[in-house]
Amino acid sequence: PRYKTVEQVLSLMKDITRVRNIGIIAHVDHGKTTTSDTLLAAAGIISQKVAGEALALDYLSVEQQRGITVKAANISLYHEIEGKGYVINLIDTPGHVDFSGRVTRSLRILDGSIVVVDAVEGVMTQTETVLRQSLEERVRPILFINKVDRLVKELKLSPQEVQKKLIDMIMEINNLIEMYAEPEYKEAWRIRPELGNVVFGSAKDKWGFSVPIAQKKGIKFSDVVNAYSSGDKSKVEELANRAPIHEALLETVIKFVPNPKEAQKYRIPKIWKGDLDSDIAKAMMNADPNGPIVLMISDMKVDPHAGLVATGRVFSGTLRAGEEIWLVNAKRQQRVLQVSLYMGPTRELAEEIPAGNIAAALGLDQARSGETAIDVKYKDANVGSFESLHYVSEPVVTISVEPKNPKDLNKMIDALRKLSIEDPNLLVKINEETGEYLLSGMGFLHLEVSLQLLKENYGVDVVTSPPIVVYRESIRTKSQVFEGKSPNKHNKLYISVEPLNEQTIELIANGTVREDMDSKEMARILKDQADWDYDEAKKIIAIDENINVFVNATSGVQHLREVMDTILQGFRLAMKEGPLAHEPIRGLKVVLHDAVIHEDPAHRGPAQLYPAVRNAIFAGFLTSKPTLLEPLQKLDIRVPMDFVGNVTGVITRKRGKILNMTQMGSIARITAEIPVSESFELASELRAASAGRAFWGTEFSRWAPIPDSLLVDAIMKIRERKGLPKELPKVEDFLA
Ligand code: GDP
Repeated sequence: PRYKTVEQVLSLMKDITRVRNIGIIAHVDHGKTTTSDTLLAAAGIISQKVAGEALALDYLSVEQQRGITVKAANISLYHEIEGKGYVINLIDTPGHVDFSGRVTRSLRILDGSIVVVDAVEGVMTQTETVLRQSLEERVRPILFINKVDRLVKELKLSPQEVQKKLIDMIMEINNLIEMYAEPEYKEAWRIRPELGNVVFGSAKDKWGFSVPIAQKKGIKFSDVVNAYSSGDKSKVEELANRAPIHEALLETVIKFVPNPKEAQKYRIPKIWKGDLDSDIAKAMMNADPNGPIVLMISDMKVDPHAGLVATGRVFSGTLRAGEEIWLVNAKRQQRVLQVSLYMGPTRELAEEIPAGNIAAALGLDQARSGETAIDVKYKDANVGSFESLHYVSEPVVTISVEPKNPKDLNKMIDALRKLSIEDPNLLVKINEETGEYLLSGMGFLHLEVSLQLLKENYGVDVVTSPPIVVYRESIRTKSQVFEGKSPNKHNKLYISVEPLNEQTIELIANGTVREDMDSKEMARILKDQADWDYDEAKKIIAIDENINVFVNATSGVQHLREVMDTILQGFRLAMKEGPLAHEPIRGLKVVLHDAVIHEDPAHRGPAQLYPAVRNAIFAGFLTSKPTLLEPLQKLDIRVPMDFVGNVTGVITRKRGKILNMTQMGSIARITAEIPVSESFELASELRAASAGRAFWGTEFSRWAPIPDSLLVDAIMKIRERKGLPKELPKVEDFLA
């Protein structure tokens, strides 16, 4: 039953009890790629195109397979147990924690995850991070303890010792499940070897089994130990023939990962940011193929032949070509031009894809990953979405790039554009004054990886500037009301500014409070959770992408309504470049108290109102203890006890703070926070301080005011880099 036709796969997809949506998650180097490769090699689904070219997957070299694995957003696998066929969609989840925004997003379309752990290294920082994220999204984890061969070959453990080591590791994973799972899943999702939701094996040597599989086949751990200690390669191959790893993993997935219909019932209440009593939410909870279309787009890729391809999960309804749909975040209506399903790693045209399945769609080129696409009938119904995109990325490091070969300029621009579509956390901008191309990302490593992709996937070699850390501008006290005049003096705005409190910032950052929500609902949340006065909160009329809020506290001002859009545009522009160093402003509440607006539209255009808004805001800003916020990074380090002193030394020398330290056997686990600006050489210094024995993960932590003693210096450095005047701006500059 190996190679399936499109019709066979489609008919399986219609019975969603035969569908599973999974991803593989792991700490870097624990074997995610090798595991995907073995599954792909045994795929059992192959598109006509590929088969026609006699490129059956079995014959693909590992390199070619890797190429495909790396590029595909989804790979559909076919597997049978007890004579029943299943489609298993293996969805790509980006690996590194610097991309954590993307990990969560792709987790949203999965129902199960294979957590791969290296048998020797055990549970590491990113294992914990991805497992926690999986549990938070109600994605059921199953465990794959990989590289069991190393326990024998390198650590020379006996069968009993191997078992003990594996049991300890399972306990550690269960502790994490106990810690991070919601109460109703703690017990149900525990890893229980006797039930079979953990697979032991070696992805590299292609064997693996769960306890029930081993019992059925009469395999013992001593067989594994003997196979490796004999030094006879054919013994290992024999093991792989008796207990192939892909069979063990796919069987485990089919048995333990819920089908989409079961899963959506409890996952939608967790991941859908909208009214759960609405018919759209109910249709999703039932995975109803006849309900309104809801598609969560997890990935946008540029296909050189087809253009932009959106990959996502149909949570409700049935996706067909020709359908008009509404992109909730982009606020655009677009027509689906073509629908395809994944056949192995490639795509094949399909007439329709029903709820619960993964689809690829052409025609949605205004969408970005994370987008929610819904039936156009619901366009104005404000039904909600899976995530509001505005606040996902906090790019904190920027480099300028130029092609090594000036002839490649257009090629580079095109490649950068495509990269930033595929990775929404990567921002590309052009510096209008210098013509430089600027690339911003979530950390040094993120940018390094992106440059590598630029070279490998697009053949563009670039030279870069040293990385520049991005700051935010903010204030610490409330200002009085300032008058902002337009250049023609005919318009006057009376504005005060103050810092938003932490709760408000958090509610906006996590999407609980959104500009497009009902104002009463917003006011209620802000009153209950962030100490706002209800009536003032109801007057919020704009929230920008850097978490600044505009409150219209005026009443009865003539002509104000006609110019409000222009004023808000002026507010958004002012927030993009603050007065200190032209860095974006963050965490500001701007209150408009009163205004005088000229009656003649010719005298109250943007050229008049933009400066009026800006002047009043900046004057208030400069009187309210202004400061720069710098990005802090969270570090999670594991290091042998002997090196703890050295490692904490590196951290404190870099203005870092130790947050917590625990000991597990001879290993210390240190969590710390350190300014991104100090983390440029961090990797090599940590390696040097620990003789290469420290492992760590990094994550964006938060924005924090830089110490006052460094403030002026930091501002001046940025101003100099940007070619701004050497004098700091003064309040009077904005009160002309
Ligand atoms: P990823 O970073 O999680 O994708 O890890 P890879 O799949 O690239 O594997 C990292 C390294 O571990 C590679 O050198 C693999 O060859 C090796 N590796 C993967 N699986 C096994 C295994 O079962 N046993 C051993 N000894 N090495 C493995």
